[in-house]
Amino acid sequence: MNTTGSSIERPGVPVATPTIEHDLSLRDLNSFGLPAVARTLARVTNEADVRRLLADPRCGAAPKLVLGGGSNLVFSRDPQAVVLKVEVMGRRLVAERPEAWIVELGAGESWHEVVAWTLGQGWPGLENLALIPGTVGAAPVQNIGAYGLELADRFESLDAVDLVTGRTVTLDARACAFGYRDSIFKRDAREGGLAGKSLITRVRLRLPRPWQPVLGYLDLERRMAETGQAAPDARTIFEWVCAIRRAKLPDPAQIGNAGSFFKNPIVSAEQCRDIIGRDPEIVHYPMPDGRMKLAAGWLIDACGWKGKSVGRAGVYERQALVLVNRGGATGAEVVTLARAIQESVYGRFGIRLEPEPVIV
Ligand SMILES: Cc1cc2nc3c(=O)[nH]c(=O)nc-3n(C[C@H](O)[C@H](O)[C@H](O)COP(=O)(O)OP(=O)(O)OC[C@H]3O[C@@H](n4cnc5c(N)ncnc54)[C@H](O)[C@@H]3O)c2cc1C
Repeated sequence: MNTTGSSIERPGVPVATPTIEHDLSLRDLNSFGLPAVARTLARVTNEADVRRLLADPRCGAAPKLVLGGGSNLVFSRDPQAVVLKVEVMGRRLVAERPEAWIVELGAGESWHEVVAWTLGQGWPGLENLALIPGTVGAAPVQNIGAYGLELADRFESLDAVDLVTGRTVTLDARACAFGYRDSIFKRDAREGGLAGKSLITRVRLRLPRPWQPVLGYLDLERRMAETGQAAPDARTIFEWVCAIRRAKLPDPAQIGNAGSFFKNPIVSAEQCRDIIGRDPEIVHYPMPDGRMKLAAGWLIDACGWKGKSVGRAGVYERQALVLVNRGGATGAEVVTLARAIQESVYGRFGIRLEPEPVIV
């Protein structure tokens, strides 16, 4: 049922509220393909839409769930909150400085299309982040990262609307408090965070000049060795990243999934030495602060989970870090599988795996 363009009274002229839909299936709006129904869903195309919704007596005071492309969410049940589907569009170059191009993007733009667009415009720098599903507005939420690069490395600032006051704020990188798959937008209010409290409308990225390739990642080093290209250009890196990802990760259009289901755990050097003593092959990477990042996929595989299923939710055959919908899975089945994996990894290694997607 749609109540499109209903109006609310404001001083002066009546103004149309954004499109509001009721009892809408979210199955096609999440990359896992999980069943869930939004009691109320509003499509937001600009900041004024958010403010009008906040002033609307039907949704103003209700809890809100911000939805982008649904590629980092697990619907374990129907959301009780009003769902705000972000559809703010727009791409433009806002500054051309000697040291960088600054581009501004609407939060509803497709991340991958933006990566391809910037390359096409002659503003490289995002190629390592090609083919990450989802929207621009969600990219800062978990500080997306891949192939040796994180959003934080290319971030300038963003605009977000406070979902209580309706005020727009501009935040720089420091205010976003980026971490590994983390930012102020993923932390809840008890930790001083903004999870569920604001809706990002625009993101500005800084693409450094002159362009420098980021080639430290093992898979890219392998490609360089295989092809004999010691100095690939940005377009080549973009194509390599797309090809590597297509070979490794299931396409959500074919098999429902949310990418990596767990964060790679970070442990002290001492804890890592302990584990290496018992499991010498464990895959680990040193961090700049002396701690060690362990490959969560390796830990899950070592516990024998690759290819296994619980109900209709399963562990992807080619990458144990990815949980998949084998057809008709519910969010509850995915969560049950995730818990069983967490328990066995904890039982064997004493490490608690933390989910990367947001569980609703
Ligand atoms: C096959 C596959 C591969 C993936 N590979 C990677 C990878 O390499 N690296 C990586 O980091 N991630 C990866 N992901 C995860 C996912 O693509 C990213 O986290 C992406 O940024 C999520 O975007 P989205 O628009 O789908 O967000 P959603 O799933 O819609 O939302 C995710 C979270 O962000 C919040 N949110 C969304 N939009 C906004 C907004 N405008 N304002 C405020 N909050 C918002 C939501 O409330 C929710 O909490 C992968 C996922 C899949 C399915």
